[in-house]
Amino acid sequence: MSTAIAVNGAAGRMGRTVIETASERDDVEVVVGFHATDAGDIGGVPVVESDGVASALAEHDVDAVVDFSTPEAALGIVDACIAADVALVVGTTGFDAEGFDALEAASDEIPVLKATNFSRGIQVLLRTVTEAVGALDGYDLELMETHHNDKVDAPSGTANTILETVQDERDVEPVYGREGHAPRDEDEIGVFARRAGDIRGEHELVLAGNDEVLSLSHRAEDRGVFAAGALDAAGWLVDRGDGWHEFDDVIDED
Ligand code: NAD
Repeated sequence: MSTAIAVNGAAGRMGRTVIETASERDDVEVVVGFHATDAGDIGGVPVVESDGVASALAEHDVDAVVDFSTPEAALGIVDACIAADVALVVGTTGFDAEGFDALEAASDEIPVLKATNFSRGIQVLLRTVTEAVGALDGYDLELMETHHNDKVDAPSGTANTILETVQDERDVEPVYGREGHAPRDEDEIGVFARRAGDIRGEHELVLAGNDEVLSLSHRAEDRGVFAAGALDAAGWLVDRGDGWHEFDDVIDED
């Protein structure tokens, strides 16, 4: 039986990609989409206004919502998901602390899985970052990311996740852009964001020291990689209990 999915942010770049990716799979089916205004029909999926979320979740017998929208729009559907007892997969980035807390609170009542990056390669990169930073004590650290010119948050959610992964291993302070900060301090990590063209997402962590440079980098070549990961997460999540779940666990159980 396929998992019935609703897509929040259905008319956006990622929402459309999720609908297209799901149409090529038989383990998931996008049954309805949500948008700020009535967006008609996208890829054969009815897209309804966001104030109709509660009734649409019941009407279409939704198992999980996959959200790629804005922090406000994501938080706007939380109560409806709880009322309908529907699992929530959040791909949106850029939540402030209050928004993040609200998602965590929701996980007391429904299964919630939030990831700043649904590509498998980035999950493997995060594991490698932990190993490399732990092993290469004292090496200088610099973190770079590049995205399309329409991205609203900077640095990217993924860059922040890489930064937190580094900080779990070493006590370093981020210096954004480095203006006025040369020469570098050994307790800092430079963080740089570039915006250009339609670049899907590039991340690189450089560890430099002792006459050598280790560069850990990842490039997403198509938004389909994020959509596929989010749909995998949704199918996995509906069989889990209420609580906060990690994309890393989805990969481990494949
Ligand atoms: P986008 O701007 O193309 O799409 C967002 C859509 O949400 C827009 O169409 C916007 O109109 C819509 N929206 C606004 N208010 C809404 C509401 N109340 N209800 C429903 N929809 C509403 O952006 P995008 O490139 O698709 O990215 C969306 C989010 O996903 C961003 O936060 C981005 O950083 C994140 N993202 C995450 C991953 C990941 O793997 N986790 C990958 C790519 C993008």
